[in-house]
Amino acid sequence: MLRLEDALARVLDGVRPLPAETVAVEDAQGQVLAAPVMATTSLPPWDNSAMDGFAVRSADVAGASHDSPVRLRVLGEVAAGHVPTCDVEPGTAVRITTGAMMPPGADTVVPVEDTDVPGGVSTLPPSVAVRAPAARGAHVRHRGADVHRGDRVLDAGRLVGPAAIALAVASGAAQVVVHRRPRMAILATGDELSPAGEPLLPGRIHDSNTPALLAQARAAGAVAVSHGIVPDDPAALAQRFAVAVAASDVVVLSGGVSVGAHDHVRDAFRALGDLRLWRVAIQPGMPLAFGRTTPSRAGAREDADRPVALFGLPGNPVSAFVTFELFVRPYVRVLLGHVDASFVAPDAHRRVVARLAEAVTKAPGRRAFLRVRLVADSSAPGGLLATPTGDQGSHMLSGLAAADGLAVIPEAVSGLPAGEPVEVLLLEGEGA
Ligand code: AMP
Ligand code: MG
Repeated sequence: MLRLEDALARVLDGVRPLPAETVAVEDAQGQVLAAPVMATTSLPPWDNSAMDGFAVRSADVAGASHDSPVRLRVLGEVAAGHVPTCDVEPGTAVRITTGAMMPPGADTVVPVEDTDVPGGVSTLPPSVAVRAPAARGAHVRHRGADVHRGDRVLDAGRLVGPAAIALAVASGAAQVVVHRRPRMAILATGDELSPAGEPLLPGRIHDSNTPALLAQARAAGAVAVSHGIVPDDPAALAQRFAVAVAASDVVVLSGGVSVGAHDHVRDAFRALGDLRLWRVAIQPGMPLAFGRTTPSRAGAREDADRPVALFGLPGNPVSAFVTFELFVRPYVRVLLGHVDASFVAPDAHRRVVARLAEAVTKAPGRRAFLRVRLVADSSAPGGLLATPTGDQGSHMLSGLAAADGLAVIPEAVSGLPAGEPVEVLLLEGEGA
C-alpha cells in the first residue's frame, strides 16, 4: 500500500498549469494570474478629499478655535466626479465632497463638523466659520498614495479573489491573464443509481456522488459538467468514458473501481490510458484508480495530445468525497496554476490544530480522515475541540454533512485518547 504522499506525488508528477487566457477581471475569481497586473493609473489618480467639508489653505485656519473661529469666503463647490472651477485664494474656501478633486490652492480639508455649516444642507453658504485648526494635508488623499502608475499591483501566481479584483480594476485593468480553468467531466457508474428526485425502484439509490462531486469541483475552481449515470456494462462505460475524455482535462468517475464481478472501471482505464491503480494507505478511500490519457487515445482528433487525467473514485459517498479532496482537488489546483501546490499540495485545505473531545479508534497502517465538528474551547490547542460526527462508516452521509473538517489520525496508531491534539483539514463552504 502506498503512503498518501507517494500516491499524490505520482498523481501530480509532471503536471503543468493549463495555458493562459485573457478574461474580464470580474470573471477571474478563483483563477490564478499567469501574468502580473500593472497599474495604468495611479491610485488615487489625483489629490482628493477624504471628507465632506471645505477645501482651504492650512495657513488660513492655523489659529482657528471654537471660541475664535476663522471666517472664510466660500467661492464655490466641487463634488465627486467634477472638476474644480475655482482656485482657493487666501481667505477663501471651496465646499468639497468625499472623493472630489482638490481645487488648486487648497492643501487641506476642514470637515464640515468643524464648521458652522450644518452637514447635508444643499444651498451654498456665502461664508464659513472654521472652528478648529487643520494641519497641512489633513483629510487629503494624495495622488499615488496607494498605487503609482506602472507599479506591479498583483504578481503572477496570485489567486484572484474579491480584493484582487477591486485592486486590478481600480488600477486601470479591465481584463487579466489567468490560467484556464480545468474542464472536468463527472461520471457515475452502477446499475443501482437513479437520478436525483426520481422515485426509487426496489434495489436502487439516488446518485448522490455526481451532484456532490460537481459541487466539490466547482469549489476547487474547475468547470464541471455531469456526464450522467453509466450502467455496470463494459461497452457502455467505454463509450461514455471516451466522450468524457474528448471533452475534458480531468475525468472523475465514481463507483465500479474495485475488483467485484461488476467493476469495469479498471478495464476502461486500461483500454484508454496508462492505468495506475493504487491501494493507498488511507481510510476512507480504498481503492482508488488514477490514469492518464489523451483525446487521441479516445479516438478524438481535436486537441489530440492534450493530457487528460482519469480519476476512479470509490463509490461509497464518503470515500468519493474524501478522495476528491485528497487527490482531485490538489490536481485541479496545479492545473489552475497555484504556485504553492508542491507535490504534496500542502495548501489544498486550510488546516487547524484541535484537541480530540473523545477517544477514537481506527485501522492501524492507514492514515484516517475522521469527520469532526469543531467548537471553540479556549483551553484546547488552537482554541478548538474536535468531536467525531458519529458513525465513521464510508456510507454514512449524515456524519459527513455534520462535519467541519477531517481530523488526520496518523498511520502508526490504532487510535488516540481524548485530549490528544490532531490536525484538521477544514471543509469550507457549508455548515452552520
Ligand atoms: P462500488 O464502488 O461501485 O462498489 O460502490 C460502493 C458503494 O457505493 C455501493 O454501496 C454503491 O451503491 C455506492 N455508490 C456507488 N456509486 C454511487 C453514487 N454515485 N451515489 C451514491 N452511492 C453510490
Ligand atoms: Mg458499483
